Amino acid sequence: MGRLEALVTSTLETIRTHSLPPTPHTFQRLFQHFSAPQADVALGELLAHLTSNNGMVAETLAADVDIMVEEGALALQEEAGQLVTALAGTEAVLARYGAVLDGCTRTLAPTNSESLLVQSIALLAQETARMSARNTFLAEELRASTARVGQLQQSLAVVRQEASVDALTGIANRRAFDARLRRQLGQAKRNEAAPFCLVLLDVDHFKRFNDTHGHRTGDRVLRLVAQMLTANVKGKDFVARYGGEEFAILLGDVDEETAAAIARQICARLAAKRIVKRETGEEIGAITLSGGIAQVRLNDTQGSLIERADLALYAAKHEGRNRVCMNY
Ligand code: GH3
Ligand code: MG
Ligand code: MG
Repeated sequence: MGRLEALVTSTLETIRTHSLPPTPHTFQRLFQHFSAPQADVALGELLAHLTSNNGMVAETLAADVDIMVEEGALALQEEAGQLVTALAGTEAVLARYGAVLDGCTRTLAPTNSESLLVQSIALLAQETARMSARNTFLAEELRASTARVGQLQQSLAVVRQEASVDALTGIANRRAFDARLRRQLGQAKRNEAAPFCLVLLDVDHFKRFNDTHGHRTGDRVLRLVAQMLTANVKGKDFVARYGGEEFAILLGDVDEETAAAIARQICARLAAKRIVKRETGEEIGAITLSGGIAQVRLNDTQGSLIERADLALYAAKHEGRNRVCMNY
């Protein structure tokens, strides 16, 4: 194996074994590290840094999407600009045609000489042909432009949809969650909606799970958790993958106790699921979750509400996991 191939292999293996976010940045940093380890920070330190950058990765991807949406909007604007230019060109031709018609109305008087009449008719024919050509051009331009705008609108809709869905589990992602929370918080503050609860749920010992059963089985578990959450909430509630192995639910019109009962029921149903490793048929022990719950307060910001649910989640972990705690 050549040196370059060996470098790429070490880089990819490290990304896989440490479940690092597989982004260009991670690849580039590890590649750089393995190229000259003695000139870089210790591998352990680098790994810790790359792992803790998960949130930043989500932000970077979200920023990419913003740029894509912005580019789409710019393309639409450009399209509109081209149409305006085409219309302006037509306006000039039309004005000229109008002037010729005016002139001909005068020269076509029966008292004028025959040669003047012939001249006027020739001019009229020429300008009419020019106007007709311009009309054909404009019609084609309009047709092409309508098609391009249609395509752009379609690809923008796809980007928007992809921007709000988590690729692994198919439920809403962090970005969509943030938008939803902002809206719901605003409504609660304006008294337009009943108070709601935020539930944060985190898979217990998931690093160990991945290490024992492999990342692919881990991914299947995350999909299962997402399905369980979706299946156990009502239409007005909102379920999202908050990041990694952490999920968030916005439960409308419930107090903390009711929210806790719902969260506990979800945890119990998940724990009761028989999980079998696809590759070997081996049965895997129960998946447990820890949960933190906070009910919205009128003086809450997005940050303060999440922080209180996070504190409760931390308490649930601290008290031994596989339980749901509330923040008062
Ligand atoms: P705790 O009970 O304290 O929550 O322990 P934990 O191991 O679940 O928590 P920790 O934050 O140490 O590790 C989270 C793990 O989740 C590490 C990471 O590999 C894994 N993980 C994050 N995202 C994914 C993913 O998309 N797929 C898989 N398979 N694993 C993931
Ligand atoms: Mg965890
Ligand atoms: Mg976690």
